[in-house]
Amino acid sequence: MARQRRPLSATRLRTFREGLLSERAQLLGQVEGLDAEADVKNWRESGFDDDPADAGSASFERETAQSLSLHARNLLSQIDDALRRLDEDTFGECVTCGRRIELERLEALPYTTQCMECRRREETGR
Ligand SMILES: [Zn+2]
Repeated sequence: MARQRRPLSATRLRTFREGLLSERAQLLGQVEGLDAEADVKNWRESGFDDDPADAGSASFERETAQSLSLHARNLLSQIDDALRRLDEDTFGECVTCGRRIELERLEALPYTTQCMECRRREETGR
């Protein structure tokens, strides 16, 4: 059953965890800011319904803030998953083939769940 893989060093894992945690904190701040912005625009939009131009641009800005917030939330959940994998000691394993994800890929995208090969295969639709 012992799968042959070199475990990531404790130092390396700690670096990944720290990177993930700081990115997480940053994203949380972003989400809060964006949600507040979307709320303000929402309120403003309903207060200006006699001026369609104002309402239109407020609604556009609100949608932008909402979609950015959605994107940040999405990233946040990927980061949370990566942190959980760190706790479960499965961090850095490809969820598809079980092999170690390339180190350079992990360094660029620490919350990735697939090795380059599986990712590519998925993108090209096999
Ligand atoms: Zn793989």
